[in-house]
Amino acid sequence: MDQQPPHQVTESQPIAETSRGHYILEILGIVSFFMLALLVGTEVYQGMATFGYLWLLPVIAVIAYLAADFISGFVHFLADNFGSSEMPIIGPGFISGFRDHHVDPKGITRHDFVDTNGNNSLVSLPFMLLAWLVVPIETTVGGYLFGAFFLLVSLAVFLTNQFHKWAHMEDPPSFAVWLQRRGLILSEEHHDIHHASPYDTYYCITVGVWNPLLDQTRFFERTERLLRRVIPGADARLRVEREGSLNER
Ligand SMILES: [Zn+2]
Ligand SMILES: [Zn+2]
Repeated sequence: MDQQPPHQVTESQPIAETSRGHYILEILGIVSFFMLALLVGTEVYQGMATFGYLWLLPVIAVIAYLAADFISGFVHFLADNFGSSEMPIIGPGFISGFRDHHVDPKGITRHDFVDTNGNNSLVSLPFMLLAWLVVPIETTVGGYLFGAFFLLVSLAVFLTNQFHKWAHMEDPPSFAVWLQRRGLILSEEHHDIHHASPYDTYYCITVGVWNPLLDQTRFFERTERLLRRVIPGADARLRVEREGSLNER
Protein backbone atom coordinates (compact mmCIF):
# COMPACT_ATOMS: atom_id res chain seq x y z
CA MET A 1 0.00 0.00 0.00
CA ASP A 2 1.20 3.47 -0.76
CA GLN A 3 -0.79 5.10 1.94
CA GLN A 4 -1.48 4.16 5.55
CA PRO A 5 -5.08 3.41 6.48
CA PRO A 6 -6.64 6.47 8.12
CA HIS A 7 -7.42 4.51 11.27
CA GLN A 8 -6.45 1.20 12.74
CA VAL A 9 -9.51 -0.76 13.87
CA THR A 10 -9.75 -4.45 14.65
CA GLU A 11 -11.94 -6.63 12.46
CA SER A 12 -14.56 -7.17 15.13
CA GLN A 13 -14.99 -3.51 15.97
CA PRO A 14 -17.88 -1.95 14.03
CA ILE A 15 -17.50 1.66 12.98
CA ALA A 16 -20.07 4.05 11.60
CA GLU A 17 -18.80 4.69 8.09
CA THR A 18 -22.10 5.75 6.59
CA SER A 19 -24.50 8.40 7.76
CA ARG A 20 -27.69 7.28 9.48
CA GLY A 21 -29.73 8.61 6.55
CA HIS A 22 -27.76 6.57 4.04
CA TYR A 23 -27.95 3.49 6.26
CA ILE A 24 -31.76 3.73 6.35
CA LEU A 25 -31.74 4.19 2.57
CA GLU A 26 -29.64 1.02 2.25
CA ILE A 27 -32.12 -0.94 4.40
CA LEU A 28 -34.97 0.29 2.20
CA GLY A 29 -32.88 -0.61 -0.88
CA ILE A 30 -32.35 -4.20 0.31
CA VAL A 31 -36.04 -4.66 1.26
CA SER A 32 -37.16 -3.20 -2.10
CA PHE A 33 -34.63 -5.38 -3.94
CA PHE A 34 -36.08 -8.56 -2.43
CA MET A 35 -39.66 -7.43 -3.02
CA LEU A 36 -38.95 -6.76 -6.70
CA ALA A 37 -36.97 -10.01 -7.00
CA LEU A 38 -40.01 -11.81 -5.59
CA LEU A 39 -42.35 -10.10 -8.06
CA VAL A 40 -40.09 -10.85 -11.05
CA GLY A 41 -39.48 -14.38 -9.69
CA THR A 42 -43.21 -15.04 -9.42
CA GLU A 43 -43.67 -14.06 -13.08
CA VAL A 44 -40.70 -16.23 -14.10
CA TYR A 45 -42.25 -19.15 -12.19
CA GLN A 46 -45.54 -18.62 -14.04
CA GLY A 47 -43.59 -18.44 -17.32
CA MET A 48 -41.94 -21.74 -16.38
CA ALA A 49 -45.34 -23.37 -15.90
CA THR A 50 -46.58 -22.01 -19.24
CA PHE A 51 -43.54 -22.34 -21.52
CA GLY A 52 -41.21 -24.91 -19.90
CA TYR A 53 -37.65 -24.79 -21.28
CA LEU A 54 -36.40 -25.87 -17.86
CA TRP A 55 -33.33 -27.48 -19.45
CA LEU A 56 -32.27 -24.03 -20.63
CA LEU A 57 -32.24 -22.52 -17.14
CA PRO A 58 -28.81 -23.88 -16.03
CA VAL A 59 -27.31 -22.46 -19.25
CA ILE A 60 -29.02 -19.11 -18.59
CA ALA A 61 -27.71 -19.21 -15.00
CA VAL A 62 -24.09 -19.60 -16.17
CA ILE A 63 -24.45 -16.79 -18.75
CA ALA A 64 -26.12 -14.58 -16.10
CA TYR A 65 -23.28 -15.21 -13.63
CA LEU A 66 -20.69 -14.30 -16.27
CA ALA A 67 -22.70 -11.19 -17.17
CA ALA A 68 -22.85 -10.11 -13.52
CA ASP A 69 -19.07 -10.57 -13.22
CA PHE A 70 -18.55 -8.31 -16.24
CA ILE A 71 -21.03 -5.72 -14.90
CA SER A 72 -19.21 -5.73 -11.53
CA GLY A 73 -15.96 -4.97 -13.35
CA PHE A 74 -17.41 -2.22 -15.51
CA VAL A 75 -19.21 -0.41 -12.68
CA HIS A 76 -16.12 -0.74 -10.45
CA PHE A 77 -13.93 0.62 -13.27
CA LEU A 78 -16.23 3.64 -13.69
CA ALA A 79 -16.36 4.36 -9.94
CA ASP A 80 -12.55 4.07 -9.54
CA ASN A 81 -11.71 6.31 -12.49
CA PHE A 82 -14.52 8.80 -13.11
CA GLY A 83 -16.39 11.28 -10.93
CA SER A 84 -15.67 12.15 -7.31
CA SER A 85 -17.06 11.66 -3.82
CA GLU A 86 -18.58 15.15 -4.07
CA MET A 87 -20.86 14.27 -7.00
CA PRO A 88 -24.57 14.54 -6.23
CA ILE A 89 -26.50 11.33 -5.42
CA ILE A 90 -23.86 8.72 -6.38
CA GLY A 91 -20.85 10.56 -4.87
CA PRO A 92 -21.17 10.14 -1.09
CA GLY A 93 -22.67 6.67 -0.91
CA PHE A 94 -21.27 4.97 -3.97
CA ILE A 95 -18.08 6.49 -5.47
CA SER A 96 -16.65 7.26 -2.02
CA GLY A 97 -17.06 3.60 -1.09
CA PHE A 98 -14.83 2.50 -3.95
CA ARG A 99 -12.25 5.25 -3.31
CA ASP A 100 -12.09 4.60 0.44
CA HIS A 101 -11.68 0.90 -0.28
CA HIS A 102 -8.26 1.53 -1.88
CA VAL A 103 -7.06 3.51 1.12
CA ASP A 104 -8.43 1.04 3.67
CA PRO A 105 -9.05 -2.34 1.96
CA LYS A 106 -9.90 -4.08 5.24
CA GLY A 107 -12.65 -1.52 5.95
CA ILE A 108 -15.11 -3.68 4.01
CA THR A 109 -14.62 -6.52 6.52
CA ARG A 110 -16.09 -4.30 9.26
CA HIS A 111 -19.24 -3.58 7.24
CA ASP A 112 -22.41 -5.33 8.38
CA PHE A 113 -24.89 -6.99 5.99
CA VAL A 114 -26.68 -3.69 5.26
CA ASP A 115 -23.51 -1.69 4.52
CA THR A 116 -22.07 -4.52 2.44
CA ASN A 117 -25.12 -5.09 0.26
CA GLY A 118 -27.16 -1.88 0.42
CA ASN A 119 -25.48 0.06 -2.37
CA ASN A 120 -25.66 -2.77 -4.90
CA SER A 121 -29.37 -3.14 -4.10
CA LEU A 122 -30.00 0.57 -4.62
CA VAL A 123 -28.14 0.59 -7.96
CA SER A 124 -30.15 -2.46 -9.15
CA LEU A 125 -33.58 -1.06 -8.24
CA PRO A 126 -34.31 1.14 -11.32
CA PHE A 127 -33.39 -1.71 -13.67
CA MET A 128 -35.47 -4.24 -11.74
CA LEU A 129 -38.47 -1.92 -11.64
CA LEU A 130 -38.17 -1.31 -15.38
CA ALA A 131 -37.87 -5.05 -16.12
CA TRP A 132 -40.89 -5.84 -13.95
CA LEU A 133 -43.02 -3.09 -15.53
CA VAL A 134 -41.97 -3.46 -19.19
CA VAL A 135 -40.89 -7.06 -19.94
CA PRO A 136 -43.79 -9.43 -20.81
CA ILE A 137 -42.37 -12.25 -18.65
CA GLU A 138 -45.58 -14.24 -18.18
CA THR A 139 -46.97 -13.86 -21.68
CA THR A 140 -44.10 -14.44 -24.16
CA VAL A 141 -41.32 -17.05 -24.38
CA GLY A 142 -38.72 -14.34 -25.05
CA GLY A 143 -39.96 -12.31 -22.09
CA TYR A 144 -39.88 -15.38 -19.83
CA LEU A 145 -36.31 -16.35 -20.81
CA PHE A 146 -35.12 -12.75 -20.51
CA GLY A 147 -36.92 -12.44 -17.15
CA ALA A 148 -35.11 -15.56 -15.87
CA PHE A 149 -31.77 -14.21 -17.12
CA PHE A 150 -32.41 -10.79 -15.64
CA LEU A 151 -33.46 -12.18 -12.25
CA LEU A 152 -30.30 -14.33 -12.04
CA VAL A 153 -28.06 -11.39 -13.05
CA SER A 154 -29.71 -9.25 -10.36
CA LEU A 155 -29.18 -11.91 -7.68
CA ALA A 156 -25.50 -12.32 -8.69
CA VAL A 157 -25.03 -8.52 -8.64
CA PHE A 158 -26.59 -8.49 -5.17
CA LEU A 159 -24.11 -11.15 -3.97
CA THR A 160 -21.07 -9.45 -5.53
CA ASN A 161 -20.04 -7.20 -2.67
CA GLN A 162 -20.58 -10.06 -0.21
CA PHE A 163 -18.12 -12.15 -2.27
CA HIS A 164 -15.80 -9.10 -2.35
CA LYS A 165 -15.99 -8.81 1.44
CA TRP A 166 -15.19 -12.52 1.89
CA ALA A 167 -12.14 -12.08 -0.38
CA HIS A 168 -10.80 -9.48 2.10
CA MET A 169 -11.65 -11.36 5.32
CA GLU A 170 -8.89 -13.09 7.30
CA ASP A 171 -11.31 -15.83 8.27
CA PRO A 172 -14.28 -16.06 5.89
CA PRO A 173 -17.08 -18.63 6.47
CA SER A 174 -16.01 -22.18 5.54
CA PHE A 175 -18.52 -22.50 2.68
CA ALA A 176 -17.12 -19.26 1.23
CA VAL A 177 -13.59 -20.72 1.39
CA TRP A 178 -14.93 -23.86 -0.34
CA LEU A 179 -16.37 -21.73 -3.17
CA GLN A 180 -13.21 -19.58 -3.39
CA ARG A 181 -10.94 -22.63 -3.69
CA ARG A 182 -13.01 -23.95 -6.59
CA GLY A 183 -12.89 -20.63 -8.40
CA LEU A 184 -16.66 -20.19 -8.12
CA ILE A 185 -16.45 -16.82 -6.31
CA LEU A 186 -13.77 -14.13 -6.01
CA SER A 187 -10.67 -15.31 -4.10
CA GLU A 188 -8.18 -13.25 -2.12
CA GLU A 189 -5.18 -14.15 -4.33
CA HIS A 190 -7.08 -13.16 -7.46
CA HIS A 191 -8.42 -9.90 -6.02
CA ASP A 192 -5.00 -8.93 -4.59
CA ILE A 193 -3.96 -8.10 -8.16
CA HIS A 194 -6.49 -5.23 -8.22
CA HIS A 195 -5.24 -3.95 -4.88
CA ALA A 196 -1.67 -3.58 -6.15
CA SER A 197 -0.73 -0.07 -7.26
CA PRO A 198 -1.80 1.53 -9.62
CA TYR A 199 -5.18 -0.22 -9.19
CA ASP A 200 -5.96 -0.21 -12.90
CA THR A 201 -6.77 -3.83 -13.68
CA TYR A 202 -8.71 -6.90 -12.40
CA TYR A 203 -11.83 -4.83 -11.70
CA CYS A 204 -14.30 -7.77 -11.87
CA ILE A 205 -15.27 -8.77 -8.32
CA THR A 206 -18.06 -11.37 -8.53
CA VAL A 207 -15.71 -14.20 -9.51
CA GLY A 208 -13.13 -12.46 -11.71
CA VAL A 209 -13.34 -14.83 -14.66
CA TRP A 210 -13.06 -11.96 -17.17
CA ASN A 211 -10.03 -10.35 -15.53
CA PRO A 212 -7.15 -12.12 -17.33
CA LEU A 213 -8.76 -11.55 -20.75
CA LEU A 214 -9.63 -7.90 -20.04
CA ASP A 215 -6.13 -7.34 -18.70
CA GLN A 216 -4.39 -8.89 -21.71
CA THR A 217 -6.51 -6.94 -24.17
CA ARG A 218 -6.08 -3.71 -22.12
CA PHE A 219 -9.86 -3.39 -22.34
CA PHE A 220 -10.27 -0.93 -19.46
CA GLU A 221 -7.35 1.25 -20.54
CA ARG A 222 -8.82 1.50 -24.05
CA THR A 223 -12.31 2.13 -22.66
CA GLU A 224 -11.02 4.87 -20.33
CA ARG A 225 -9.24 6.60 -23.23
CA LEU A 226 -12.39 6.37 -25.35
CA LEU A 227 -14.66 7.72 -22.58
CA ARG A 228 -12.26 10.58 -21.85
CA ARG A 229 -12.43 11.55 -25.51
CA VAL A 230 -16.23 11.58 -25.68
CA ILE A 231 -17.12 13.00 -22.23
CA PRO A 232 -17.23 16.82 -22.54
CA GLY A 233 -14.64 18.54 -20.35
CA ALA A 234 -12.95 15.30 -19.24
CA ASP A 235 -9.18 15.28 -18.70
CA ALA A 236 -7.72 13.37 -21.67
CA ARG A 237 -5.07 11.69 -19.52
CA LEU A 238 -5.80 8.35 -17.86
CA ARG A 239 -6.25 8.42 -14.10
CA VAL A 240 -2.94 6.61 -13.58
CA GLU A 241 -1.19 9.17 -15.80
CA ARG A 242 -2.62 12.03 -13.73
CA GLU A 243 -2.15 10.75 -10.24
CA GLY A 244 -0.03 7.64 -10.42
CA SER A 245 -0.98 4.96 -7.97
CA LEU A 246 -3.69 6.56 -5.88
CA ASN A 247 -7.31 7.36 -6.49
CA GLU A 248 -8.20 10.95 -5.88
CA ARG A 249 -11.42 11.36 -3.96
ZN1 LIG B 1 -10.96 -0.55 -7.10
ZN1 LIG C 1 -11.23 -5.10 -2.73
